[in-house]
Amino acid sequence: MTKTLFGRTSLIISSTMLAFLLAVITIAGYFIILPVGKRNADDLASLILLSAKTYIELPPETRQDFIDELSTNHQLFWGKGDEKLAEHIHLKPHFNFMEETLSKRLGSNVDIAPQVGNSDRHWVDIQVANETVRIGFDQQRIGVALPYVALYLVSILAIMAVFSSLILVRKITRPVQKLSQAAKVIGSGGIPETLKEEGSKELAETAKAFNKMSANVQNLLENRTVLLGGISHDLRTPLTRMRVALEMLPDNVDDELKNELSNSIGNMEIIIKEYMQLTKGLEEGNIERVNIHALVSDIIGEINPSKNQTINLVGADNGDVDTYAVALHRTLFNLIENAVRYGKKKPINITWSCSDKTTEITISDQGSGIPKQHQEEVFKPFYRIESSRNRDTGGSGLGLAIVDQIVQKRGWQLSLSSNESTGTSITLSL
Ligand code: ATP
Ligand code: MG
Repeated sequence: MTKTLFGRTSLIISSTMLAFLLAVITIAGYFIILPVGKRNADDLASLILLSAKTYIELPPETRQDFIDELSTNHQLFWGKGDEKLAEHIHLKPHFNFMEETLSKRLGSNVDIAPQVGNSDRHWVDIQVANETVRIGFDQQRIGVALPYVALYLVSILAIMAVFSSLILVRKITRPVQKLSQAAKVIGSGGIPETLKEEGSKELAETAKAFNKMSANVQNLLENRTVLLGGISHDLRTPLTRMRVALEMLPDNVDDELKNELSNSIGNMEIIIKEYMQLTKGLEEGNIERVNIHALVSDIIGEINPSKNQTINLVGADNGDVDTYAVALHRTLFNLIENAVRYGKKKPINITWSCSDKTTEITISDQGSGIPKQHQEEVFKPFYRIESSRNRDTGGSGLGLAIVDQIVQKRGWQLSLSSNESTGTSITLSL
């Protein structure tokens, strides 16, 4: 999380905001909240003291009136001395301030304790002129608990600060994320969706530049395909002429040399044919109704595997799909050809399923498998596992590269699962 731009930026912004908040609260606490709180505590302590002294000095018959007056107008209560007091743990510093003031003024230790069963009411015993009076007051009497207000404020502000920074950072990193995804698509040879050229000026400009670059890359790729197709096509004629000339060489020319030349021409012909097929698969192409069963049977016919090769076809007979017919033919041909080539002559299963959303075709062989470390590489042009196998199987290493290009161009998906003991299974999803 802290590695992503989102994580880092939100961490920096929210911690800065929190630090700022803490600083504000500390300063406000020290210079405003604390002095006001102390002042309040002082006032209440003074009132209690004054009341106690006045009470003592009053003639006994007027004392009750005084007590009534105190409780109605000042919310101070006269204790009888038999109130059960609880252990006092003061969570609010206010009580400590009061205790301090009272102790200082009376010159002896004074405790404020809550009443058992009514933790709202607090009592304090005041010793005046050898008499002890117990005076009580309610929590509300100490007014707004400023430390609590500060705590609530900090919590609410902190939550707001974190949320707003998250929203802010998300707004900035979202387009960057989209840009990085689109760049990845280009990197793997695909065509990304056009980015929205909106938001802040810098981001909009970046998106615009990226879209332009993406269009250029696409153009370049299309030109490359046309160029490759053209060159391949034009090379065929001189190659045919070379082959004819080779056949017509006099008998005294070394046979080994002739074979070597013939093999080389053969290889070039294969490569050229594949390039042309690549461009064919990548051309715009038309969407046609294709019956998978019929298509797969046709392809097997073209590949013409040996008589004892078993190929099981399992799928809905009405496996009709509307798709790019030429491209699908090319793709399945290459995959089935590989299964036959590298399947060690063991049975091959071709299964398919068609639903409203997708059509999936799976080709599984029980052959040599593709080791994990080669599974990405085999999709690169001319990549073949173990060069020693090349001569027996005689491919050029373009088959899967062509499949990969077609799959990306058509927005299909290919998933490969393969290991050396069970063989290879490739699923194409349209
Ligand atoms: P071609 O251009 O004629 O298809 P190729 O078959 O060698 O030549 P790819 O189809 O691109 O080229 O395959 C690349 C490599 O991947 C192959 O050489 C082979 O080593 C490996 N490979 C492909 N399919 C399979 C498979 N079904 N089982 C085992 N290995 C495979
Ligand atoms: Mg192949």
